[in-house]
Amino acid sequence: APAIVWFRNDLRVDDNRALLHAAESGCPVIPLFVLEDAHDTLPLGGAQRWWLHQSLLSLSAKLDTLGAALVLRRGDPEEVLDEIIRSSGADRVFWNRRYLPGLIERDTAIKSSLRDRAMTVESFHGQLLHEPTQLRTGSGGPYRVYTPFWRAFCERPPPRPPSDAPRALVPFHGSLVSDQLADWTLLPAGPDWSTGLSEEWEPGEEGAKTRLERFLAEGLGSYGSMRDRPGVPGTSRLSPHIAFGEISPFRIWQEVENVRNEVSHPDLTVFRKELLWREFSYHLLVNFPSLGNDNFNSDFDAFPWLGAGDRLARWQRGETGYPIVDAGMRELWQTGWMHNRVRMIVGSFLVKHLLIDWRLGEAWFRDTLVDADPASNAASWQWIAGSGADAAPYFRIFSPILQGRKFDPDGAYVRRFVPELAAIPDKFLHTPWTAPEPVLAEAGIELGRSYPLPIVEHGAARKRALAAYKTMKEIA
Ligand code: FAD
Repeated sequence: APAIVWFRNDLRVDDNRALLHAAESGCPVIPLFVLEDAHDTLPLGGAQRWWLHQSLLSLSAKLDTLGAALVLRRGDPEEVLDEIIRSSGADRVFWNRRYLPGLIERDTAIKSSLRDRAMTVESFHGQLLHEPTQLRTGSGGPYRVYTPFWRAFCERPPPRPPSDAPRALVPFHGSLVSDQLADWTLLPAGPDWSTGLSEEWEPGEEGAKTRLERFLAEGLGSYGSMRDRPGVPGTSRLSPHIAFGEISPFRIWQEVENVRNEVSHPDLTVFRKELLWREFSYHLLVNFPSLGNDNFNSDFDAFPWLGAGDRLARWQRGETGYPIVDAGMRELWQTGWMHNRVRMIVGSFLVKHLLIDWRLGEAWFRDTLVDADPASNAASWQWIAGSGADAAPYFRIFSPILQGRKFDPDGAYVRRFVPELAAIPDKFLHTPWTAPEPVLAEAGIELGRSYPLPIVEHGAARKRALAAYKTMKEIA
């Protein structure tokens, strides 16, 4: 009888334990992907729908070369599994575990209902380097602070080595109904906003592998010093590939280990520590399931947020008048990704300069990021807002001017994404409103027309944010 491998956020054949297990069983293999939109706790945003389409094409081609045809179905996975079991005679189902509140319970329920019908069901660990309920503090609770979490991780045995893709799969020869990917309309229908995404990314396992190889050869050796510079390719850009499970964290860990002697130890450790932030985010989400909705620190329930209105739209469009903020928001819109340093700057700007609730920023990122991840996104937004576990203190307010000067000193980043400022001298790049009129005229800039004046004045916004924080503390 055939074995069903239920693919979810693990769209790869390399280091895929569920697939390998099915291959080793010697049974015919039915790879299945179910589009669960009606049941998802968090439906995919537009950018990730685009990504999913490309990634499924790539997975399907990979599986074809191994001898198995990917079955695509839309609906409730339990019903879909039932139907495929009935029509194929499958007697076993394998999958890799996912760690989202709501989905954990649902997968467990599906597992027991299938087992009740004498099916063999096995789930595997592969999306995270640790099981999120595994690491515990001395008193037995979950970690709330990153550094002890990292230390606890380091004290455990190192992550297991990744396993290779199966060499071949036994095909299933029966006929099964499969949806047409195009009918799922995951790609933008009306205006095609995905050109920038196609130029930047190659979704799928090959794209992930290429990114990792390039990063190991060119980026890892200077990661510690260059990772905060948005104008240079200083980070791996693996995040969307990781979010869709096109590459396993065990593979990344191992490949980094393999170049240990070629790069400096601190660069390697800084990179691994970043990978561990993703693990920590899942640790938080699994142990505090409302992380995406509720302030982790409930004092923030009393925070006097202002209404969003047009100011949210100006932030989303990259029209705040602060070049580094606008460059970030436009990078996000054009490419579906934003550099981590700039995510922190734009996030802080939304929450502190505009006093807009972090949940609105989180939702915008969820819709526009190709790497949107319910754990990392929620944990990072709460970190920025000051409401999170181990958060940046609210009263530390980034200056978008100083941040711009420090991390984009030559303006390479701003000039790329805010081309209307391209000709302005470096000196005024992060404060165009301070440039004398003739300088602006020569650079072809008409402030308030070709590029906006600042939406708020930094000093005044800072004072207002601190006052709002104080009222919250008084109420809480
Ligand atoms: P690299 O620097 O090359 O790091 C390698 C990998 O480590 C990343 O791909 C990612 O999986 C992980 N990682 C690195 N930094 C972090 C971090 N701070 N938190 C969690 N994981 C990290 N990351 C997401 O994957 N999805 C999100 O939805 C997301 N939302 C964010 C929202 C805000 C407001 C902020 C400040 C950060 C957010 N991040 C998110 C974290 C981080 O910005 C991205 O993971 C990183 O920019 C991805 O680029 P990279 O792959 O080049 O990272």
